[in-house]
Amino acid sequence: MKITLTVIKADIGAVGGHTKPSREILKTVEDFIRSRQKMFLDSYISYTGDDIHILMSHQHGTGSEEIHKLAFDALMQGTEVAKRQGLYGAGQDLLKTSFSGNVKGMGPGVAELTFEERPNEAFALITADKTEPGAFNFPFYRLFCEPSANTGLLLNPTLTRGVKFRVMDVMEGKIADMHTPEDTFMIAASLMYPGRYVVESILTRDGEPILAATTDRLHNIAGTYVGKDDPAALIRLQKQFPATEEMGSVFKLAHYVAGNTRGSHHVPLMPVKLKTSSTTNFCIPIVSAAVFSMHEGVFTEAVDAFETPDWDFVRARASQKAEFMREQGFVHPATLIPEELEYNKGYQSIMDEVKKRFR
Ligand SMILES: [Mg+2]
Repeated sequence: MKITLTVIKADIGAVGGHTKPSREILKTVEDFIRSRQKMFLDSYISYTGDDIHILMSHQHGTGSEEIHKLAFDALMQGTEVAKRQGLYGAGQDLLKTSFSGNVKGMGPGVAELTFEERPNEAFALITADKTEPGAFNFPFYRLFCEPSANTGLLLNPTLTRGVKFRVMDVMEGKIADMHTPEDTFMIAASLMYPGRYVVESILTRDGEPILAATTDRLHNIAGTYVGKDDPAALIRLQKQFPATEEMGSVFKLAHYVAGNTRGSHHVPLMPVKLKTSSTTNFCIPIVSAAVFSMHEGVFTEAVDAFETPDWDFVRARASQKAEFMREQGFVHPATLIPEELEYNKGYQSIMDEVKKRFR
């Protein structure tokens, strides 16, 4: 049975700042999606920080206007609630108000996988907040290119044969295909600058889809800062694909990513439990993962990939790494370079005055 998994995500408003969506927004979005359940096979709606994620399984294929419009309309309904409740950033990721064919380029992030369902189909939905699409570059590199991080590369014949990385240049909107193992250094070189190049998808060498991630950079669409382009990714697991625990463990380094407060700093990516608010501790970037089994497009309940006690150690380490970087205050690399500062207009206005003093 051919199934498409579609995740569409957006920040349409949060309580008291960029924390998490209100209960009423979530209920509104859930009720709207459920009221149209004949259009899809199953759905799962959740949030990570201030971002709402709508995951659907269906048979309309990738880029389906019907499915995209359904999610967009649900987010529009949620936005009405956000405005009525006076939530912060109400509707901030919906850059256009009338739907035109596909949610891509309209603000919400989208990732989709279409595949012949396996008898034991396992997959995960990985979602991050307070960061950027390239935040997944290093974990995905380690998962598919680095045997010292993932022994599965030496034990699983599909992965040993190598995979195809599709890397997007988010400034140009172009995609490059590169293969492991022969192009590994080229893949590494491009993923070195996550603000510019991001993993768009990963396939087996035979073209079987394994992973798809959101790649939109909102300020490239809007031309100005409108919020963080927090990424989501879908990844198929087990058998010929990475094991669930291989997927989870590549997030345990809590590597430094761009994002957090005002989208203007480098802070570690902290793995957190499902449905975690953004932390008021300078908005340390967070990532969560929901693991599912699926049969004929119907999901089991979600297993929380980062809820077990060992992840408390990783969280403590991430907090410590965040403190180390925050001790550096405003000095780069604690802060981003000017072009990457989400609030660069404020910085530029100060620097314009400074420049007048140079003689
Ligand atoms: Mg967000």
